[in-house]
Amino acid sequence: MEKGICEKCKGKGFLVFSKGNFTTAKICKKCYVACDKCGGDGIIYSKSERGYTYADKCECTMFERRIMLFNMAMIPAQFSSATLEDFQITHHTQEEARTNSQKFVDSYPFKKRGLMFMGPVGIGKTHLAVGIIKKLTLEKGYRCKFVDFFHILSSIKEGYSERKSEKKIIEPFVKVPVLVIDELGKGRNNEWEANILDQIISRRYVNTNELTTIITTNYTTRSESTLSCTRTKMNINRLVSTKEKTYEEEILRETLQDRVGDRIFSRLAEMCNMIEMGGKDFRMWKHKEDEV
Ligand SMILES: [Zn+2]
Ligand SMILES: [Zn+2]
Repeated sequence: MEKGICEKCKGKGFLVFSKGNFTTAKICKKCYVACDKCGGDGIIYSKSERGYTYADKCECTMFERRIMLFNMAMIPAQFSSATLEDFQITHHTQEEARTNSQKFVDSYPFKKRGLMFMGPVGIGKTHLAVGIIKKLTLEKGYRCKFVDFFHILSSIKEGYSERKSEKKIIEPFVKVPVLVIDELGKGRNNEWEANILDQIISRRYVNTNELTTIITTNYTTRSESTLSCTRTKMNINRLVSTKEKTYEEEILRETLQDRVGDRIFSRLAEMCNMIEMGGKDFRMWKHKEDEV
């Protein structure tokens, strides 16, 4: 460790940990020193030529704001340590996907076209999406939100009993500048679910100049995709529960178009660069390593 660098936060000035279902960041108290420009108040006073006093936000408040943005992104707890840098690569498509993720971060907000990570379970699609929004919030200061489509659906159902309108619950997901929808296509796929998805995607679609959508999905654009097929078939035999088996078989049989319908699919194709990924199932791979 370099001399003078805080060992608790490795000199980053903040700590990331999981709290309940989500990932949280907070300022590292061990190395935190009150800003010498504003004395920690966050406000700098200056006088104009005519003698008026002006109050301005001190630049140190930007750091706190970024931590707040990170906490508002609702990153699931199990991804608290996921970053683009520590992404495990076992296949060239994963390498390309990571490169594209970093390129996206670097060119945002000048380029707002989103990304769609497609491919079998366990190859790091969600990891990359999380890595992206961690950088966008902490390093660049943009508003992002992560959501599992299931979570939106259950919030809406809960909202019904509290007489909250569907529109009000959907609103934050419609308006946030960068939205990650995880596991698109998973679910029962009934008319009601399709309608909710349509409301979110269509409203973001009309605003593509402002809004970026990042998708992860286990479905691909071709059924029996060459990349996912052998792996997924192998996975199916290893799965214990029939529920999981049915889901994996479904991924093989159906395409993303089948799952979300032509209208949503064609919009997503306009909104996102599609990235098909293959590789070892990271979770199983890890498991195997543990056995050795
Ligand atoms: Zn520290
Ligand atoms: Zn300050």
